[in-house]
Amino acid sequence: MLYLVLNDPGVLKPKNHSEIQHSLHFYVKYINIFIIIEAVLFKKTVFSMPNGKTHTKINVILLFVILLSLHTKFMQTYIPPEYLEFDATTIFSLALIFGTYYLSPDLDIQSEPFKRWGILKYIWWPYQKIFKHRGKLHHPLLGPIIIISTVGLLIIAPIVILFNFNITCVPTKYIISLLTGIIISIEAHIIADLIWTKVKRKSNKIKKKLNNSHTTKS
Ligand SMILES: [Zn+2]
Repeated sequence: MLYLVLNDPGVLKPKNHSEIQHSLHFYVKYINIFIIIEAVLFKKTVFSMPNGKTHTKINVILLFVILLSLHTKFMQTYIPPEYLEFDATTIFSLALIFGTYYLSPDLDIQSEPFKRWGILKYIWWPYQKIFKHRGKLHHPLLGPIIIISTVGLLIIAPIVILFNFNITCVPTKYIISLLTGIIISIEAHIIADLIWTKVKRKSNKIKKKLNNSHTTKS
């Protein structure tokens, strides 16, 4: 059944623009209802920033969704076949998991990913001094560039030089799979933080309005 659903492009392809708009309105409406319920029922906000564990859960679920979606005709028409092979998808999956645990944008604070680096954690320390939390490392473009180039310059380059490793013998598809996995793990973190911030802001606004209406009534 799942196979049939995944392999039928009609199931996944929205038919026209108005249908996409309609489904977007549908989701926004339900998110708003959820925010109002949360604002009315709970004094303390449920929408607190996602912590390290939440980010890990989000990224693991995302990885499963991506791996599952690779079996759909839609993805198979857009991704070159060599990237759908077992070796490339394994490298991609490991990179996404490694990125989640070690290359989080939360390296700009004394977070779990920061502590996981052990003695090497000091390579990230300057960023905690230069950037504020959720600053440059949480920027959708600068975040991945800064994180990946730091690993490249301070970890990979010294290893390559020290062991005289010929990096050109690594197949391009492995490097691309690796980078894609890492970038997706970072972007998923940034997007999750952004959504939470927006939802929280909206939730606070509604709470303020509710509080104001209570005080004017009394
Ligand atoms: Zn964050």
